Amino acid sequence: MTITAQQSLAEVINCLSDYDPNALRVSDAQQVIEQFVQPVQAIEMVAIRDALDRILARDLISSIDVPAHDNSAMDGYAVRAADLTPDAQTQLKVIGTATAGKPLEIELPAECAVRIMTGAVMPHGADTVVVQEITTVQDALVCIPPGQQLGQNRRLRGEDLTRGKPAIKAGKRITPADLGLIASLGIAEVPVRRRLRIAFFSTGDELRSIGETLEPGQIYDSNRYTLHGMLRRLGVELIDMGVIPDRREALEDAMRIAGANADAIISSGGVSVGEADFTREVMGRLGDVAFWTIGMRPGRPMAFGRVGHACYFGLPGNPVAVMITFYFFVRDALLRMMGATRSSLPYLRATSSVPIRKRPGRTEYQRGILSLGSDGTMQVALTGGQGSGVLRSMSEANCIVVLHHDQESISAGDKVDCLPFEGLI
Ligand code: AMP
Ligand code: MG
Repeated sequence: MTITAQQSLAEVINCLSDYDPNALRVSDAQQVIEQFVQPVQAIEMVAIRDALDRILARDLISSIDVPAHDNSAMDGYAVRAADLTPDAQTQLKVIGTATAGKPLEIELPAECAVRIMTGAVMPHGADTVVVQEITTVQDALVCIPPGQQLGQNRRLRGEDLTRGKPAIKAGKRITPADLGLIASLGIAEVPVRRRLRIAFFSTGDELRSIGETLEPGQIYDSNRYTLHGMLRRLGVELIDMGVIPDRREALEDAMRIAGANADAIISSGGVSVGEADFTREVMGRLGDVAFWTIGMRPGRPMAFGRVGHACYFGLPGNPVAVMITFYFFVRDALLRMMGATRSSLPYLRATSSVPIRKRPGRTEYQRGILSLGSDGTMQVALTGGQGSGVLRSMSEANCIVVLHHDQESISAGDKVDCLPFEGLI
C-alpha cells in the first residue's frame, strides 16, 4: 500500500517550530504534507509509448553509445583537417560516397576526400566535414576554401548517450523527448511506478448533478469537473464518487469506501467554519486528520490527514479555492506519491499593469492574464472579479499571480511572480 512506516500527523506537525492550525503559513502546510505522504513502491513494465507522463521507476542505463560511430552532421565532404591549407584553397581527390546506413569502410588516404551525407559514418582517418555549399567540384577534385576548423560538422560517438551512464534518472516524468531517447537505446519496455488511484467527491446538500433540475438555492456541482480535469492531467486513475449530501452516515460511508480503495481522497466543501464541526466528528472516528486555517486567499480552510491507508485532502467548497488548493498543495503531494523527483514550479516575473491590494501575512493568489507588452517584456493584468466563487476568473486567466506571504500592496509597474498555466510540453 501507499503509506509505509508512517509517522503520525502529530509527529510530523511537532517538527514545525510554531504550529498554529488556525494561522498556518502556506509553506508550513506544504512542508507537513510533503513529509507525511510517501511514494508508492510498486513498479510495472509498460510499452514505451504508454510510458509518456509516467514516472520512471529506475535509472535507465545506456547499454550502447548513441550515436554508435562518429558521423557527419551535414551533407558535404569528409576530410583530414591536416590535409587542408589554412590560408588558401585545397584540392582533394574524391574517392567515394558515404550515405546514412551505408558506411564506406576504408581508411581515408592522404590528400583525399569522401562525399558524405548527414548521419553517415565518418570513414577512418577523416575528422572534419566541409559543407557541400562552400565547395566546388571538377573532374573528381573537390576544391575547399580556407578557414576550416578541425572537427567541424562531426558528431562524436556517444555524444548523445554514453554506454554505462544513466540516460534518464529514476523519478523523471517521461516527456516526448524521453520517449525518443528511450527508443534511441532500442528499449521496448520501461519500468514505471504504478498509477495512483484517487477517489474524489463533492459534499453539500445544495449540489445537483448535471441532468437534474435546480430548485431554488441549488447549484450544479462544478468542483468534481475541475478536479477531474486537474487529476486527468496528472495521469492518475480516477474514482469519481459523485455528490455526498451533508449527512454524517453518508460522509462516513463515502470516506470508508474511498479509504479502502484509493491512495488519496479529495473532497470539496464541508471544511469551512460553519460545516467543519460535522466533518470533524466523522473524521475523528475514521482517521488522523487536522483542520487548518491557512494564511492564504482564496482557500483558507482545509483538512489534511489520513483515512485508512489513503491520505486525505479536504478542500474548501468555493470553486476557485478548490483549484488553488489543488495546485499549491495537492499537486505536489500527488507527484511525490507518484514517485516523481521534486521540482519547483517555474515562476515568470512580469510587470503588473494594475495596482494590486495585498495584505502582508498571507499568500494571495490572483487570476492573471499574461501578455507581451509593446516594449517586449511580459505584462500581467487581472481578470476582473477575484471572488473565490467566481470560476470564470480561472477560466479567463492564463496564469496565477502569486503575492507572497510578506509581500505588501503593489503599484502598477511593479514586478510580480506569475505561474503560467500553459507549458510547451
Ligand atoms: P462549503 O465549503 O461547503 O461551505 O462551500 C463554500 C461555497 O462553495 C458554497 O457557496 C458552496 O455552495 C460552494 N460549493 C461547494 N461545493 C461546490 C461544488 N461542488 N460545486 C460548486 N460550488 C460548490
Ligand atoms: Mg458545503
